[in-house]
Amino acid sequence: MPDYKLLLEIQVLDEQKRALEQKLREGQTSEELKSLKAEIEAGRSIFNKLKGEYSNQKKTQKTKEMDVAMASEELNNLGQKLYDGSITNVKEINSNSKKLESIKNKIKQEEDYILVLMEEQVNLRAKLEKMSADLNSKAEDYRRKHGSLLANQQRLQQLIAQIPLARQKLLEKIDAEILHKYMDMKKSFEDPLARVEKGICMGCRVGITFNELRLLKQGEGLVFCSHCGRMLYWERQG
Ligand SMILES: [Zn+2]
Repeated sequence: MPDYKLLLEIQVLDEQKRALEQKLREGQTSEELKSLKAEIEAGRSIFNKLKGEYSNQKKTQKTKEMDVAMASEELNNLGQKLYDGSITNVKEINSNSKKLESIKNKIKQEEDYILVLMEEQVNLRAKLEKMSADLNSKAEDYRRKHGSLLANQQRLQQLIAQIPLARQKLLEKIDAEILHKYMDMKKSFEDPLARVEKGICMGCRVGITFNELRLLKQGEGLVFCSHCGRMLYWERQG
């Protein structure tokens, strides 16, 4: 195989490596995953806030229920005292009757409030369940996408890892002097080797001289583009 073809293969490998590395970098900043993650985190924070609200309501309900239980006991005691004839003083009877009514009212109010709390809790619970299902499905979506991204990244890394050995094998076959020249040119060009097509250097898109073309066609020695300096190669058609 002519040296330039080997060099060309190296150049193609280097281009592939650059492209793969570019893809790898792009994969590290997946906007879709980023926004999905932010969405999940925001959702979780709202969910936790609602959950806190729910448990506060539950606590309030418990306290109210205890208040009602205590008031009911007070009511019973007072009722007993009023009707078992142990109080005979009219003034005392009147004041205790008033107290009884006020306790009854208090119980009624507390019970109404408990009903409101219970209803709110039902609504909150339904909301929480819906949010939880939604968050779970989003998290599942994220896991799946993240997993396939990682698999893809791994595949890219494997492909990139294979390149140096293939490159080394090609390097070993190339004439040392040509290789040295090529490596030297690599400092200035990403693609030091340029194909000549219809008399034009495909590296800089400028026509090469008649003499350069003649030398290329003769296939003797290295030919360089007098415009951009790239190493030229020419392939006989057919
Ligand atoms: Zn050129």
